[in-house]
Amino acid sequence: MISIATIPVKTYLSKSKIPGFDYVINPYVGCPHKCVYCYAEYMRKFSGHAEAWGDFLDVKTCPVPLRPAKLFRTRVMLSSVTDPYNPYEKQYELTRNLLKQLIFCQARVYILTKSALVLRDLDLFTQMQHCEVAFSFSSADDAFRRLAESGASSVEEKVHALKTLHEAGIQTAVMVAPLFPEISDWRAILDLTHPYVTRYGFDSLNMRPAYQRKVMAFIGQHFPQFLPLYSDIYLKEKTDYWQALSAQITDYCTQANIPAEIYFGSSRSYSGD
Ligand code: SF4
Repeated sequence: MISIATIPVKTYLSKSKIPGFDYVINPYVGCPHKCVYCYAEYMRKFSGHAEAWGDFLDVKTCPVPLRPAKLFRTRVMLSSVTDPYNPYEKQYELTRNLLKQLIFCQARVYILTKSALVLRDLDLFTQMQHCEVAFSFSSADDAFRRLAESGASSVEEKVHALKTLHEAGIQTAVMVAPLFPEISDWRAILDLTHPYVTRYGFDSLNMRPAYQRKVMAFIGQHFPQFLPLYSDIYLKEKTDYWQALSAQITDYCTQANIPAEIYFGSSRSYSGD
């Protein structure tokens, strides 16, 4: 059972620390998608919640509208520590209302989600001068998605959403992330999505020490055969696995002419046009 509260905030905007974006908007605190590897769980500490991550959701309210002069042609990302299309967005429509304001501000909007609910706002995306919708996939296997990202849309729903967005002329991206060593079937993700995707990013399963125990327990329970490898990578911090994987992805994407950026390994690399 999720506990939901409404919390007043002075602004929805945060200055972005993520390269490529000017501002980030997180309309909610918390995320019911409950990904086992969620890096945003540290938000619990700031929000004062005793509930487990995924069991609470704060709905932000702000009476002050976004300022067009401040946001004109800036790059605004939704979202970094929540999913702007969590299931409760259907009811609260915070993201939808913010997008309407961002159209008026003529901001460049980048959406990162794991939910097909994003399709509800297709009418708004088509009114934007620039809009990109990115989905993240850790696997093309929905059985794994159910284990690792139980609240997110199914693989099939996400692929359908990408296709619909692409056919409507919206720019789309796929973040192949986080890559679970020996589990994430990245070639299958490319095969499923390639016809509908403008660009790809790849990122590793980058566990902060605070989350290592949780993810290692998940691997131990569901994929015990990979525990020695995960131990080498995460506890002994061996980097050769990521370097080899980075080289494989670069080769594959270069040969298939798939625009891809790799955010791990010895250096950030790019392949494709
Ligand atoms: S969708 Fe993102 S913010 Fe939500 S639980 Fe998953 S990783 Fe965390």
